[in-house]
Amino acid sequence: MDHADYLIVGAGLAGSTCAYLLRQAGCDVLLVERLDIEAKSKLCAGLVTPRALHELHNIFDTVPHSLFKSQFGVMRCIAAGITVDLHDIQMRSVERRELDRFVLDAYRADGGELLDRFHVRSIDLDAKRIAGTRDGEGREISFDTLVAADGALSFVRKELTGSSPNAILSLETTVANTGAPLTMDYEDGFIGYSWYAPCGDEAKIGCCAYIGEPDLDQRLRSFAQHMNVGYKRCRGAFIPTGSDVLLERDGVYFVGDAASLIAPPSGEGIYHALHSARMLARALVNKASYRALMRPVVAEIRRQYKLRSLFFDTRFMRCGIKLADATPYGAERAVKFALRHFAGY
Ligand SMILES: Cc1cc2nc3c(=O)[nH]c(=O)nc-3n(C[C@H](O)[C@H](O)[C@H](O)COP(=O)(O)OP(=O)(O)OC[C@H]3O[C@@H](n4cnc5c(N)ncnc54)[C@H](O)[C@@H]3O)c2cc1C
Repeated sequence: MDHADYLIVGAGLAGSTCAYLLRQAGCDVLLVERLDIEAKSKLCAGLVTPRALHELHNIFDTVPHSLFKSQFGVMRCIAAGITVDLHDIQMRSVERRELDRFVLDAYRADGGELLDRFHVRSIDLDAKRIAGTRDGEGREISFDTLVAADGALSFVRKELTGSSPNAILSLETTVANTGAPLTMDYEDGFIGYSWYAPCGDEAKIGCCAYIGEPDLDQRLRSFAQHMNVGYKRCRGAFIPTGSDVLLERDGVYFVGDAASLIAPPSGEGIYHALHSARMLARALVNKASYRALMRPVVAEIRRQYKLRSLFFDTRFMRCGIKLADATPYGAERAVKFALRHFAGY
C-alpha cells in the first residue's frame, strides 16, 4: 500500500497550490487526480482580481507574464436596466488550463508526486486510508492528513457529511474576441448573471442562475446575441454558492470549491482557491489553526452571501436607483455603489 503524510485529493488550483507549498516546506505529499492530467480542462472565465494576482505573487517566485491574456481597466455592468462602465477596475484574464498547469508544473519541478486517473471510491478515516481505482485496478493509499480539494462536487465532502457543497449550475463556451469590453449582465428579473470575458484572441461567454432558471441555454443564447457572438455548443459546470463553508471535519481539511470558498455573487473562486491553499499549508507546517487563519475570509463570504439576496432583489435595486436618480448623485452612482458593496467590484 502507498503512503503519504499529506494526501491531497484533486489537482485543480487549490489542490496543486497546497501540494506545492507543502512540498516547498519539505513535506511528504501525494496529489491524486481523477482525470488524465494531459486532457483535463477547467470551465472558467479566468478573471483574475488584484487580490488573486497578489496571492499568485505571494506563492510563486515568478509568475510568467505570458499567463495573462488580457488586462482590463473598465468593466461594463448591466444592472436593473442600466448600463454603467466601472472605470477603476484592475482585472486580468488567464486561460485556466494554462494557470492550473503552471501550478502543477511548479509542484512537479520540486519533485512532487502526482497520481492522475485515480478515482477515489471510499474513505476509511479510522484506518486513515482511501481506496480507489486507476485504469480499472484497485489501489489503496494510507495517509496521516487528508486534504479535500476535489471541487464543487466534492466526493470527500459527500462521504464525510452526506452532501457536496450547495452549488448552482453555470454554462460557458469560448467565442472569438469581438473587441467588446469585459461585460457582466445582471439582467432584470433573472436571479443570476451572464459574462463576456475577453481572453487574448478569444473570449469566454457564460451565465449562471442562483434560483432555478428553466432554460439557462436560452438565457446564454440571448446574451450571446446581445454581445453579437455566436456559438454552437456550451458546457456546464457547478459553482458553489458560498452558503455552506466547511474548512475541517473529522481531521480532514477542505480548500477551494470543496470548502465552498467562493465570493457570492461575483463567483470569484480563483483567489479563494489560492488563499485557502496557502493558509492551510501555513497552518499544517506551523501547527497553527486553519480556521483562525481563514476567519476574515469566511466572515466576508458570509456577509456577501447575506447581501446577495438584496442585490438580486430587482424591486430593491430599482427603488434604490430611482431614489438616487432624484439626488445629485444620479442613477449611475447608485449602480456603482451596489456593485462595489454587493458584488465586491
Ligand atoms: C463557468 C465558471 C466560470 C468561473 N469563472 C471564474 C472567474 O472568472 N474568476 C474566478 O475567480 N473564479 C471563477 N470561477 C470559479 C473558479 O473556477 C473555482 O472557484 C476554482 O476553480 C476552484 O478551484 P478548486 O481547485 O477548488 O476546484 P477545481 O478547479 O474544480 O479542481 C478540483 C479538482 O478535483 C478533481 N476531482 C474531483 N473529484 C475527484 C475525485 N473523486 N478524485 C480525485 N480528483 C477529483 C477534479 O477533476 C479537479 O481537477 C468560475 C467557475 C465556473 C464553473
